[in-house]
Amino acid sequence: MTTCKNCSFYFPVPENAGDYEAGKGDCVVEKQDAKGKYWLSKPTRTDSPSCPTFKKA
Ligand code: SF4
Repeated sequence: MTTCKNCSFYFPVPENAGDYEAGKGDCVVEKQDAKGKYWLSKPTRTDSPSCPTFKKA
């Protein structure tokens, strides 16, 4: 099964971060609209099943 861990949009929460927890991370995807680029961030986990946006890291 492909998981968020292998996705290039997955960023693990650093160990020195206040909300660090093993397996916890953020999904950060770059988007673009008429006004320019922006980023969408949402919490996810290393072992979460991949979504249709998955891109191999
Ligand atoms: S939610 Fe989708 S885009 Fe985000 S890290 Fe997981 S597989 Fe990648």
